[in-house]
Amino acid sequence: MPDAAPAAGTLERLRQLLQVDAVAVSRRQGETVEIVDYSGDTAHLACIATHPIEACPFGAPLVIADTARVRGLAPGRTRFYAAIPMPDGTDNPALTLHLCDARPRGPAMAHRLEAMAIEVTSRATIGRMLRQRAHERGRHEAELRAQNERFERASETASIGIWECELSDESLTWTSGVYDIFEIPRGAPIDRESTLQRYTAESRAAMAAARARAIAQCGDFSVEVEIVTLQGRQRWMRITGTVEARDGKAVRIFGMKQDITEQRLLADRTRYLAETDVMTGLANRSRFQARLDLADAGHNRQPLSAMLLVDLDGFKQINDNHGHVQGDRCLIEAAQRLSSCCQGAELVARIGGDEFAVLLGPDTAPDAAQALAAQIVETIGRPLVSDGQLLALSASVGLAHDDGLGADDLLRRADMALYAAKAAGRNTSRVHGPRVRSA
Ligand code: GH3
Ligand code: MG
Repeated sequence: MPDAAPAAGTLERLRQLLQVDAVAVSRRQGETVEIVDYSGDTAHLACIATHPIEACPFGAPLVIADTARVRGLAPGRTRFYAAIPMPDGTDNPALTLHLCDARPRGPAMAHRLEAMAIEVTSRATIGRMLRQRAHERGRHEAELRAQNERFERASETASIGIWECELSDESLTWTSGVYDIFEIPRGAPIDRESTLQRYTAESRAAMAAARARAIAQCGDFSVEVEIVTLQGRQRWMRITGTVEARDGKAVRIFGMKQDITEQRLLADRTRYLAETDVMTGLANRSRFQARLDLADAGHNRQPLSAMLLVDLDGFKQINDNHGHVQGDRCLIEAAQRLSSCCQGAELVARIGGDEFAVLLGPDTAPDAAQALAAQIVETIGRPLVSDGQLLALSASVGLAHDDGLGADDLLRRADMALYAAKAAGRNTSRVHGPRVRSA
């Protein structure tokens, strides 16, 4: 009996689920291979045509994270390529699933994508069709079970699992990967209601909205949610779902759940490092600039009331007289003193060597900004004893009120006020206005 290829709609949904440019299914008959179904950018056909026979010897997947790194390969547009045999209960399946993308993947992403593809082909709609075919051929169930175990192992390393929900009675089916994400013993009874209780309220609402939209449109959804596992651990999970429809009516949703906690933590850490001055823990210059840009941005403008620039006085001398280690301690101490004064500020940043900036939100009154300038001078100027040495720490402050002429103008005027404070003998503050006067 000839093999039947999965329906085109299924393949397109699979392509969207895996987020690649093109997905194809090829069928091997003897020495020949033909592409029996294809969905996505046809520019990748050339790559598939150069690979099919050697691609999957004895049922093993082939994954090339970046084709440009493979000598002798002329893949054209295709940079990421994977060929995954579709399980049919034999050692050498006749159908192969091909994934192609113009973007190369790192080894970890390539592995993850492979595991996802294996999961999907083994579990979801395509997998069901294939299991049906194997059944018709009278294959032994034990072979299928062995295949499934392999797929379970593949998904474990990628922290992903497949889920299905019958819409008629809301019954759930999970692979082991999903149980593991929730830290629920594999195979334990599950129901939708108690599963949803593991989501934070915000995530539950986001999930409900995305799911309802997908059901109404018989489409797909993807949402990142925060859960608390049965063991009480907080985790982030990406859920993708595809609605399966019969006669235009949604009957089932299936998709993937993936533990993305580490990715989120890494992203948070990366963002923190990109926006923070490592020595003092204050915001750095680029975060300061980003907030300033918002004060400029058209109709979404987020106005400020004032900017204060703070520069340590005679700091070169502290370095020269006491060394850089003591100099660094002064910077850290000055940052702490500044933060303690500016609890109500929108942002406190170190924007240069010994220069700091304070941005005040629109609710701060002009008088309060001027009082703050004086308080900063007083607080930073208190004596500092470090390693038994008395260090003469003091700062000058320039203040400018936002007059709506833009962020550059605000910065320029605060700088002029700082210059005036330095010129007035340091350890004092000035405000930029029609007349430069004492704050
Ligand atoms: P002024 O009163 O005019 O501000 O005099 P100043 O000596 O403070 O001069 P200025 O602000 O121009 O010099 C800042 C000095 O800060 C120059 C540099 O040697 C020192 N500096 C910059 N970054 C660091 C740092 O990370 N650690 C230490 N210890 N010193 C730094
Ligand atoms: Mg200075």
